Amino acid sequence: EPGLYIVAGPIGNLGDLSPRAAEVLRLADVIAVEDTRVSARLLRHAGSDRPMIPYHDHSAEGVRARLIERMAGESVALLSDAGTPLISDPGYKLVRDARAAGRTITTLPGPSAAIAALTLSGLPTDRFLFIGFLPAKQKARADALGEVAALRATLIFYESGPRLSESLAAMAEHLGDRDAAVSREISKAFEETRTGTLSELSARYADATPKGEIVVIVGPPGEAPPASADDADAALLEAMQRLP
Ligand code: SAM
Repeated sequence: EPGLYIVAGPIGNLGDLSPRAAEVLRLADVIAVEDTRVSARLLRHAGSDRPMIPYHDHSAEGVRARLIERMAGESVALLSDAGTPLISDPGYKLVRDARAAGRTITTLPGPSAAIAALTLSGLPTDRFLFIGFLPAKQKARADALGEVAALRATLIFYESGPRLSESLAAMAEHLGDRDAAVSREISKAFEETRTGTLSELSARYADATPKGEIVVIVGPPGEAPPASADDADAALLEAMQRLP
């Protein structure tokens, strides 16, 4: 069927490519990828010999227009180096313009490091905000953290090893020293999740730059524990006793 197929790939373990996603990769007329060498490996695994073309949202307008043209009569798959396309990865503008052009769009859902790490963290999952990569510059990073500091939500950040300790310290400073979790190499041989307060985790990673890909999950701001009916009665009694 012609149209755009958004294909989620593995985030490290090739076994996580779904059979349905593999089938789309075998049948697509063309596969838009970030990096042809990275995707060649996945296509081999899927048994696909379909042609690839490099695509980024900042590719020349002509590349996107041409892909959208092709979707009218051909199947175009969109694949990222890792995980779900559009999530800190290219594709948003392609989907936007494909919608505007009235093309058929479907998704082959699958892994995303953000959700995988959230489920590993042991932190609340009922309200969360995906922030992705923080800006590298100190001022911009402080501003970005300040913008979300008051939200009663768990926060999800993508990080790299060399910046991890410094980022955790900045989070502790601008968000407060909350409970957090650091997950590395999810679904790979050296998968690891460490939990603690932001300052504890920052100290732990200060002199041992961790290898590999990292997600930081930060819990919501601390709250006074919800008052029980008994607490309310006691407080009322105490207040009444202090009345003149
Ligand atoms: N589209 C991807 C997704 O759905 O997760 C994310 C792409 S983003 C460019 C890459 C970042 O995702 C890495 O720097 C890291 O923060 C995170 N990441 C990807 N794979 C990971 C893994 N196996 N374990 C932990 N984090 C991972």
